[in-house]
Amino acid sequence: MKRARAITDDAGPLLSDYVVVGAGSAGAIVARRLADTGASVTLIESGRQRRGPLITIPGMSGAIHAINALQRMVTWPAYTVPQRNMYGRTLPQSHGRILGGGSVINGLAFVRGNRQNYDDWADDGATGWGFADVLPSFRRLESFEDGANELRGGAGPIAVERATGLASVTENFMTALAATAGVRRNDDYNGVQQDGVGPIQQSAHAGRRVGTDRGYLWDAPPNLRVLTGATATRIMMENGRATGVELIAGRDRRPISPARARSEVIVSTGSLGTPRLLMLSGIGHADHLRQHGITVHADLPVGDNLHDHLFVPISYQAPDGRRASPLSFATAAARECLRPRSTYLAHTLFEAVAFVDSGVRTRAGIPDLQMFILPIGYPENQDEPGLHLAVESSPSLSLLPTMIYPQSRGTVRLASTDPLAAPLIDPNYLAEPRDLATLVAGIELVRATMAHPAIASHVGREILPGSERHGPDLAEFVRRNASGVYHPVGTCRMGTDERAVVDPTLRVRGVAGLRVADASIMPNIVGGNTNAASMMIGERAAELIVSGVQ
Ligand SMILES: Cc1cc2nc3c(=O)[nH]c(=O)nc-3n(C[C@H](O)[C@H](O)[C@H](O)COP(=O)(O)OP(=O)(O)OC[C@H]3O[C@@H](n4cnc5c(N)ncnc54)[C@H](O)[C@@H]3O)c2cc1C
Repeated sequence: MKRARAITDDAGPLLSDYVVVGAGSAGAIVARRLADTGASVTLIESGRQRRGPLITIPGMSGAIHAINALQRMVTWPAYTVPQRNMYGRTLPQSHGRILGGGSVINGLAFVRGNRQNYDDWADDGATGWGFADVLPSFRRLESFEDGANELRGGAGPIAVERATGLASVTENFMTALAATAGVRRNDDYNGVQQDGVGPIQQSAHAGRRVGTDRGYLWDAPPNLRVLTGATATRIMMENGRATGVELIAGRDRRPISPARARSEVIVSTGSLGTPRLLMLSGIGHADHLRQHGITVHADLPVGDNLHDHLFVPISYQAPDGRRASPLSFATAAARECLRPRSTYLAHTLFEAVAFVDSGVRTRAGIPDLQMFILPIGYPENQDEPGLHLAVESSPSLSLLPTMIYPQSRGTVRLASTDPLAAPLIDPNYLAEPRDLATLVAGIELVRATMAHPAIASHVGREILPGSERHGPDLAEFVRRNASGVYHPVGTCRMGTDERAVVDPTLRVRGVAGLRVADASIMPNIVGGNTNAASMMIGERAAELIVSGVQ
């Protein structure tokens, strides 16, 4: 496979049919699919192309995010503003700054969410985004290891395989959880039914990550021009129409020639980057833009409706689990580099996943709690920059109950007009009592599961939260230790009412020649990790643009 052409110096005036900004999970796909029609496309990415073992070995994603220096190489560093319902904590919100974006630095979990989520979007005004509408896009993007059927794709650019060689303690916990929560063993939660517990599916082939860089860009045709290391600072407007983007490059932020579009500009800079770029370009709440001295082009609720999943870490000593010491990790990494698929690092650190009902009923009729199962210790939280090690390095089992239908909503706002500065990110976590109740229910479910004979004799002391904590102490533990799942969505909501930033064809309301295609358009978050849905949005966006649907 060829390398994508990376141009970091001034390439001279750039004119193409389409300019796509952001080569992440969605943007790389939009650009490639438009180029496949023969159109000329310029794809602009602020990060660089990287293909080393840190990126390609699935289990290394844990190291990237545990070691701050590594994380800074491939992400936009960011933290939330102090969270008022979490004792003023500032939680990490770093996100990919690399060719392939989040798909190249994420935890590889491949989860579509519940089919009902998409029907809910359509019912809420996002016409054309019901499950039957988006299914062809999901099928087109994937190559599932079981092959194609009416729900799964078998020939797409993103390989999807199940984690194999699971630790015995993972298997034991799955058995116990199924019995306790009254769910079945489910070997395909992206198939007919989401409920149940089973091995995680990861976006990888033969134990090596497949992000949108590898899937869609490495063999890009010549009419797709990829610029890495170039950051869009503003969308250029002429008579109410987007005509291109201004760019800077290099550490010295030198301006380079703008990229101009004959037809459309598509912004795919993610749920945190897209509202920043739109606001810097005069598209956002008019009063907020004026406070920053920005000329207003469109008064829209950009940056509202921010929401994210939240999980709480629980861990137990487990002799059959894995050691979380830096030495044992480095040894496994060296072996995995020498012989692919020879260690547990060939799959994401999440070995298995469950979708169950918390009993809090945040979403009637479908599971509202996702639980990740990792046979290794876990850090208490990652609020401070630095090295994040597990609370205990002895062999452990960690469970991460995750609240997948947050009721709380927050905002993204500009901190300044510096195009490289992190925006003010306020997910307003735990503002709604049901969000907290769901996570407490998750802890209680894990504890009930640990009493089951399939797992009871395989675990020792409860490390987190600690068996002495009960009742109100558990709520406090959640407030002090819950973490966001790096799944921010919704900041350029799709719809037809006044809360919408884009219409169901992803056009920015009131601005010609401009669309948004990334996780920011989700009206409500999907019930599961957000990468597969973001890639689907890339596929569907290209389809809408090409077909010219009005
Ligand atoms: C640490 C982490 C772990 C995760 N784990 C999982 C997981 O296991 N499974 C899962 O499904 N999801 C996971 N996610 C979430 C998932 O990866 C994201 O939801 C998804 O990548 C979002 O896609 P996107 O296209 O909206 O944005 P991104 O993929 O973030 O793409 C945006 C791109 O735009 C670029 N960009 C931003 N601003 C500019 C600018 N001004 N000019 C030029 N380029 C710019 C960025 O550098 C980036 O490459 C994780 C995310 C993170 C951060």
